[in-house]
Amino acid sequence: MKILLKASKQSIASAHRACLAMLLLAALVVSAALARAQAPAPDSAAVEAQAHQMLSRLTLDEKIQLIGGVDDMFTYAEPSIGLPRLKMSDASVGVRTWGPTTAYAGGVALAATWDSGFAYSLGQALGHDARARGVNFLLGPGVNIARSPVAGRNFEYLSEDPFLNSTLVVPWIQGVQSQGVSATVKHYALNNQEYNRHNVDVTADERTMREIYLPAFKAAVTQGHVGAVMDSYNLINGQHATQNHFLNIQLLRDEWHFKGVLMSDWDATYDGVAAANNGLDLEMPNARFMNAATLMPAIKSGEVKESTIDQKVLRILCTAIRFHFLDRPQLDTSDSTYSVADRAVALRGALESMTLLKNQDHLLPLDQGKIKTIAVIGPDAWPAVPGGGGSSQATAFDPVSFVTGIGNFLGPNVRVLYTRGLPEMNDVFYRTHWEGPIQQATYPSHDFTGTPATETVHGIANYKDEWWGPPNKTPRSIRYSATFKATNAGEYLILAAASGGDHYTIKVDGKPVAEQTQKEGQHPESAGIHLDAGQTVHVEADYLPAFSGNRFALGMRSMADLISPDVATFAKAADAVVVAVGFDTSNESEGSDRSFSLPWGQDALIQAVAAANPHTIVTLTGGGAVDTSNWLDKVPVLLHTWYPGQEGGTALAEILFGKHNPEGRLPITFVAGWKGSPSYNDYYPAPGTDTKLLVHESGQPTRTDVIQHVTYGDKLMVGYRYYTTAGKQPLFPFGFGLSYTTFSFSNLQAPSLSTIGTLSPQGIPVSFDVTNTGSVEGAEVAQLYVSDPSATVSRPERELKGFEKVRLAPGQTKHVTLMLNASAFSYWSPTLKAWHIDPGDFVLRVGSSSQDTPLTHTLTLK
Ligand code: BGC
Repeated sequence: MKILLKASKQSIASAHRACLAMLLLAALVVSAALARAQAPAPDSAAVEAQAHQMLSRLTLDEKIQLIGGVDDMFTYAEPSIGLPRLKMSDASVGVRTWGPTTAYAGGVALAATWDSGFAYSLGQALGHDARARGVNFLLGPGVNIARSPVAGRNFEYLSEDPFLNSTLVVPWIQGVQSQGVSATVKHYALNNQEYNRHNVDVTADERTMREIYLPAFKAAVTQGHVGAVMDSYNLINGQHATQNHFLNIQLLRDEWHFKGVLMSDWDATYDGVAAANNGLDLEMPNARFMNAATLMPAIKSGEVKESTIDQKVLRILCTAIRFHFLDRPQLDTSDSTYSVADRAVALRGALESMTLLKNQDHLLPLDQGKIKTIAVIGPDAWPAVPGGGGSSQATAFDPVSFVTGIGNFLGPNVRVLYTRGLPEMNDVFYRTHWEGPIQQATYPSHDFTGTPATETVHGIANYKDEWWGPPNKTPRSIRYSATFKATNAGEYLILAAASGGDHYTIKVDGKPVAEQTQKEGQHPESAGIHLDAGQTVHVEADYLPAFSGNRFALGMRSMADLISPDVATFAKAADAVVVAVGFDTSNESEGSDRSFSLPWGQDALIQAVAAANPHTIVTLTGGGAVDTSNWLDKVPVLLHTWYPGQEGGTALAEILFGKHNPEGRLPITFVAGWKGSPSYNDYYPAPGTDTKLLVHESGQPTRTDVIQHVTYGDKLMVGYRYYTTAGKQPLFPFGFGLSYTTFSFSNLQAPSLSTIGTLSPQGIPVSFDVTNTGSVEGAEVAQLYVSDPSATVSRPERELKGFEKVRLAPGQTKHVTLMLNASAFSYWSPTLKAWHIDPGDFVLRVGSSSQDTPLTHTLTLK
């Protein structure tokens, strides 16, 4: 029986009006509550004079104490000058460090909204959540460029494009700071991978840095007037960020005139004297390097000037004065710690960000009147997955999962069938049917030498989802030897997990099948092997724990047994099925990169559902692109939900049933395969290039760090810049997203001739019409790309230089005007060491994605 799954245009329009009314009301409540906010005072002679006066009352010891953190998330107080201790909290998706919170669609989801008005509202909500918890510094936003789909923290950051990042970061910061809270833009800079993040040295040329990786930081400082900047862990062109003269002094301080606090990431300092002399103001979370033991002798010998320490203290004091941290309690009890107004902001973010990538035969929106049974299946269906893992991970007060959101929306008369569909990870470990007992040999060394203590165990299931533990004082290496017998012929899953810092190698009949070598965080590793019926294999796992205790687990399961039998039963019984796949805090998180493929078993899960029900809707939770090659052609719908914050389930239901028309647009290029993507060849360190760095930490023996080297050989060719220049079509282009309506672009008007000298500051207008040509209300993101075909240097084929989100009723047309100033046409000239415009022809293109630009216009600049 063919089922018609369509909502009427009236039902979408009226439901949408109701939703907007609700959001508007909530927004009014928010603005009323925020009227008392205290934005930072501008820099002024009075602020500086007060800070100097306070500084003059401090001893050198007291000053040095102020430039290191304390108790993980604070600066020191100095009661003698009326300076309270200043409290910090992560970050981009919720004020998370001090208990439960409201979790918003932040980071890449914010970028998918392409809505700078929403960026301000999100910042404002985070700012007031911070005030309600007495937080002085919010440790966000993160603005590192999404150079590769596997980078572990892309979900916390924004997009692959410097213009989009710069446009969103400024209102985000202004929103936070309007509440009397300092934002902290991070991680400065070129921290575009989690792989070995402490010890990777990124080599990038100045043009690449200035055109791709630094603009959002510059905008945060020069336009957002951000109160603080956080240096990253990695090295850049040979120097750790915390002691990088080019970034910290030459750019940040001298060129961008940053007057706020430059803090380190947590334990990102490696040399007290070099950090002191190269711009670091505050070592977090404590003064392991920039402390009195290191600095006093250096000041005495003249290696560090006392005036350098004074400058750091002055910047901390000026920031505290500007943000009124000295005039009033930071904890504002007139702000709610939890409020429905915040939930409205969270819902708006989820609604605006979810991005519809495939909607074959207009399966969506589903017609609520025709759905009697819906199945919601998959690991991301329940519990809710508001965000990824690591220091941004927020515990939401009351998160709405995809299952409960859909169930709540549909009410009691529709059946909702839920199954996870795949076993929990620990279930695989605990229920592996090993053939006989397992030998566990514990060696008193790091390399499986010496006489081991042996014992017999019946499972390898010690995994605990913890990041760090007490250090491993005594050397230990553990070898497991087990036998596995296949009952049936077919594919078998091998699944292993351990903790951050641990290493392991797994061999089957002597052949390595899985290895975990990453240095810091870890995600479960999986592999597949084919076994014949009755085949017996010898499995050996060599495990090197980084911490005391044993946190290693290993399991095997036939793929035929992996998908629960409920999946086909529920899928067959339903009018439509939502398969919620993707990542979560255990497999996409700070400290390590993630896989490009979906986590284990999920491809097979989608295939099993699609085989049972043609109305299969795949929702993808995660920070970017994944490998869809095994199933995309088998399913009619793919909806990227990013990490939608705590209201994800409500937003998903509203989008599936047409109460809200999807309006997210890709802030990244959704590549078909990671191997073909431009950063692939230069992502991991080049073998044989490692160098050594001696690290002298006061009170500790000198240690040797191994530094690995990554060269950004893709240079400017990041994301769509590569695809448009190479003339290649990615799976889904940057800027793309479907709607339940259609839009057209027409009537492009711009000057044909202009002179370079007259471009700044206001620029030249480019205007055009956007029309909603469909039958329901919707939002389009009009995008303006600039090409410079007559450039004297090689430039990306096109670059985003303007955009506007336009909300239109059916049949409505809006005339949009975007301004292009000098920065829209310039490139960084390495020879001139300046931004430069080559006179000649520029092509302006307007449309709905980086690949679909129906309007073009040539402008000649003289
Ligand atoms: C992260 C930062 C975070 C800090 C404090 C570090 O591990 O890299 O982004 O702000 O911890 O939690």
